[in-house]
Amino acid sequence: MLSESRLVRRVVFLGPPGAGKGTQGTRLASFWSVPHIASGDLLRRILQNEPTSELSHSIRVIAKGNLVSDEIVAQVVFGALDQPEAGNGFVLDGYPRSAAQAQDLDRHLAHDGRELDAIIGLVIGEDALVARLSGRLTCMNCGASYHVVNDPPRRAGICDRCGNMLTMREDDQPGPIRTRLKLYGERVEPLLRFYREGGLLREIDAEGGEDEIFQRILAVTGSSGKSLV
Ligand code: AMP
Repeated sequence: MLSESRLVRRVVFLGPPGAGKGTQGTRLASFWSVPHIASGDLLRRILQNEPTSELSHSIRVIAKGNLVSDEIVAQVVFGALDQPEAGNGFVLDGYPRSAAQAQDLDRHLAHDGRELDAIIGLVIGEDALVARLSGRLTCMNCGASYHVVNDPPRRAGICDRCGNMLTMREDDQPGPIRTRLKLYGERVEPLLRFYREGGLLREIDAEGGEDEIFQRILAVTGSSGKSLV
């Protein structure tokens, strides 16, 4: 087991859109006091902050549910991973999404002697996914997400955490949802294989209550949150 002084927590959340990566990832990151780095949030923030830039132009495919190029996502995600706040660990969400991206990530971390500690795979059926995604409300400012029925904000349309207006993501509509699930299905198998072979994958049943799922995550990452055994 790692001693407290050497403690590092570098984990990736894997799972289809709507599996709860954002909710659980944010919670684990705050439990560990490490940054939650969500590729989709970072990309949406760029679109919002610099809508006319060349970078935003390359990111616009998001609206239709298509994937952004490997080079652009790597540039954005690696920028966040290289911030000093990520020095003691991070919870990465939405990246990597393919075996090629997983290899890019390993190579990037290896430059400064870092490596991943675990991959948390959220396993959930398609019906549950569509139900969760089609009622989702997202805060573009802080990335928090809610559900119109299952987890509404305290004040309608307003983020509990930062007070910003909530919106329904353009890609949380039936057409883009189907595209996103299909793309995920095509790419995830090689990615899961890659991490399973490396012995890093911990799969979790992601159906049920939020607290119940979080307890499962704590259990596979060391229940005190202090080790990854
Ligand atoms: P998410 O918030 O993770 O559902 O991501 C929203 C959208 O951002 C995706 O549908 C993609 O268009 C884009 N995106 C996020 N992460 C990646 C990635 N690792 N590779 C390619 N595109 C990504």
